Amino acid sequence: MSLTLPDDVIRRLSQSRRVVALTGGGVAAESGIPSFREAHTGLWAQYDVSELATPQAFVRNPRLVWEWYAYRRALAERAQPGASHYALVDLEQYYPEFTLITQSIDGLHWRAGSRDLIELNGSLRRCRCYESGHIAFAWDDDGEIPPRCVQCGSLLRPDVVMFGEGLPYHELRRARQVVEQCEVFLCVGTVGAIEPVASFPFVARRHGAFVLTIAPDESIYTLMADYVLSATPGAVMPELVQLIAGDVGGLEELHVDAI
Ligand SMILES: [Zn+2]
Repeated sequence: MSLTLPDDVIRRLSQSRRVVALTGGGVAAESGIPSFREAHTGLWAQYDVSELATPQAFVRNPRLVWEWYAYRRALAERAQPGASHYALVDLEQYYPEFTLITQSIDGLHWRAGSRDLIELNGSLRRCRCYESGHIAFAWDDDGEIPPRCVQCGSLLRPDVVMFGEGLPYHELRRARQVVEQCEVFLCVGTVGAIEPVASFPFVARRHGAFVLTIAPDESIYTLMADYVLSATPGAVMPELVQLIAGDVGGLEELHVDAI
């Protein structure tokens, strides 16, 4: 095992009960998921963001908006969860209370097995109907584009946060709640520094949490962390889980290893 952490950090991580992790583009990139900007190339570059990813665009040209997100959904479905995704599932198994907050819409955390999951920007796995907000996990891809809601007949749109839209109320409220109550806050990989998410580590610290950031580049999340692992999450998360969870009584063994 090459990853070492100070004993007091390991103890803090191991013995906490309420833990929150935050992920975003960094973890998604490890699975080859392109960012919005990276996906906005080729055929799609001819369209402005305002034509592809706003609620107004959906009203004007629902077919184009649907196809843009269908393209991104196809990329996500071809991708596989990576080491970080699975490590976060392991942490959910280890901690009595573990909530994963993600900015990603690719659905990979769910596919990996994370279940206490707050998808702040929604998910490409779901659609909702434009008129009534009925949620759909399945739809007919071979008929009308966009497909229609089976409950009310209105057009389906991706259940993701488009530009100009606020974050979903219940998800945001729940995220704030777990951030305020956690004992450890993990920033995993590069995460977009957009409010209110950018405040989460500050809020967690103010409420007494220990903030650990795992990211290769400096950001607001590394600058204000109690401890920083300067690495890509995929390279260290599996070992970090072993350090945290270990075996029963593993703390002493790990301590000996570290010496
Ligand atoms: Zn409906």
